[in-house]
Amino acid sequence: MASLQDKSEYEKSSIVLKKALTLMVKNRIPPNPNHYSVWYTFVDKSNFDLCREMSDVIARGFCTETKSRELYNKYIASESEKSLELIKRDLEKMVCEMSSSITDASAGTALFQSKISTSFDKLKKAENGGLTIEETMSVMHEMVKNSKEVAKNVEMFSRQLSKAQTEISELKDQISLFQKDASTDALTDLLNRRSFEVDLNSLGERDLPFSIIMCDIDYFKRLNDTYGHQVGDIALKMVARVFNEKTRESAMAYRYGGEEFVMLLPETPVSIARQIADSMRRRIEKLSIIIKETGTKVSNVTASFGVAASDGSESPSVAVKQADLQLYEAKRLGRNRVMPMSI
Ligand code: GH3
Ligand code: MG
Ligand code: MG
Repeated sequence: MASLQDKSEYEKSSIVLKKALTLMVKNRIPPNPNHYSVWYTFVDKSNFDLCREMSDVIARGFCTETKSRELYNKYIASESEKSLELIKRDLEKMVCEMSSSITDASAGTALFQSKISTSFDKLKKAENGGLTIEETMSVMHEMVKNSKEVAKNVEMFSRQLSKAQTEISELKDQISLFQKDASTDALTDLLNRRSFEVDLNSLGERDLPFSIIMCDIDYFKRLNDTYGHQVGDIALKMVARVFNEKTRESAMAYRYGGEEFVMLLPETPVSIARQIADSMRRRIEKLSIIIKETGTKVSNVTASFGVAASDGSESPSVAVKQADLQLYEAKRLGRNRVMPMSI
């Protein structure tokens, strides 16, 4: 029997996936993406410390959902995700503080109202001649004192409010920064692999038909080796820009891996996806990079594409596998082409 290493990346992933799911069911872990990534990493043995800790837990009998979540936070969650969690806690704290100052302020206002109405009652007495001038003056004094107190309270409360407003808007800025960090690729600014998995899952959950374009730059290693990593990075950014330019309406472009890109096109016929892929292929083969130091012009960047579609009735991963196979075919047939040839 072939070893895991001999199998294709896809076959390996599906073996790991089945094992991970079986273990999750056994341990009654809900099948959400966070838990799934813990168990996938465990079966895949790609994180030594996680594997050791999980093996110990399982050896003792059973892994609880809490433990699985703990392992997620410890080994899988990215720094930005942890920061988001902290921000969430800060916000919760602030909301609690605000609601207690609102309660204080409204209690203060209620007290003032009752004092005012007592003072009015006394003033009424004065009107009817029941109070001396001194007594009337003392009622007036009391009213002024009470209203000063309320004014002080209101001022304090509005200061607290505006401080909270500033803090909230700072936190909001931080949240959007971290969210961008967690979902985009720093080099190309395209959405990253994690976002791709999330969006693909969401298409699957909604049973939406979609097309998918997978792309891999040809002989990229040679480009790096010949002109250096920096030129390779420039090529990646240029190809990403082509993906951005060609991304229309509800379609989304992602950096799938090193020199691999993918586009998801919800509710788009595969023939259109193929046309888009071919227009990107033609744009990429026309790209050129001028190396300033030497004046060298690099103009032989090409990419291969695989296109597939899902009618929404099966798991979206089937279309991913098909597009991957078509991409492999495009490579095999000589690269710089879109497969299938015609649709
Ligand atoms: P093929 O035509 O079969 O796709 O060949 P290839 O050389 O493109 O494929 P291979 O998988 O052998 O090499 C991919 C290379 O991409 C290897 C890796 O060093 C490079 N790479 C991955 N990520 C980056 C990156 O962020 N920047 C740069 N400059 N290179 C990267
Ligand atoms: Mg590749
Ligand atoms: Mg390549």
